[in-house]
Amino acid sequence: MIDSKLNAGFNTQLNKEFYSAYLYFAMSSYFSGINMDGFAKYMKDQAKEELEHAQKIYDYMILRRFNIKLERIEEPDSDFSNALNVIEKAYEHEKFVTSEIINLSELSKEVKDYMSEIFLEDMIMEQAEEEDKFFKIYERIKYHEDCSSMTERIDAEFKNQG
Ligand code: MG
Repeated sequence: MIDSKLNAGFNTQLNKEFYSAYLYFAMSSYFSGINMDGFAKYMKDQAKEELEHAQKIYDYMILRRFNIKLERIEEPDSDFSNALNVIEKAYEHEKFVTSEIINLSELSKEVKDYMSEIFLEDMIMEQAEEEDKFFKIYERIKYHEDCSSMTERIDAEFKNQG
């Protein structure tokens, strides 16, 4: 029998991953709108990754016979001012997601659901990479704030990636 609080927490996390995809699609479309096609592509790839996270959680929940409840997905922020602002928001969002997963992990410990604990451990480590990814881009733009060619350069790099 799955603990009902843990079950609810997983449903919330599932929803958050879909929300993350929504948010990154919103960011991608912002970049498309200002013709920064490299950043647009990069954020679309991030959105797809979030959908993969959602599927991973979904599959785990099915495996464990959790009760899946698909909750309403919140409308994402779409008020962006420039590349730095978008990337900073993405970074802040990933830090928030990390803290949410850590809370869920603590709950799984509390209710002694060891399988969930191990599953979430993996996700927490993945968050380290998610945070690092955006932090690096953020720093590169931030420390060249006066030099708009840096965002252009990163945009070109993203355009040329796989
Ligand atoms: Mg995610």
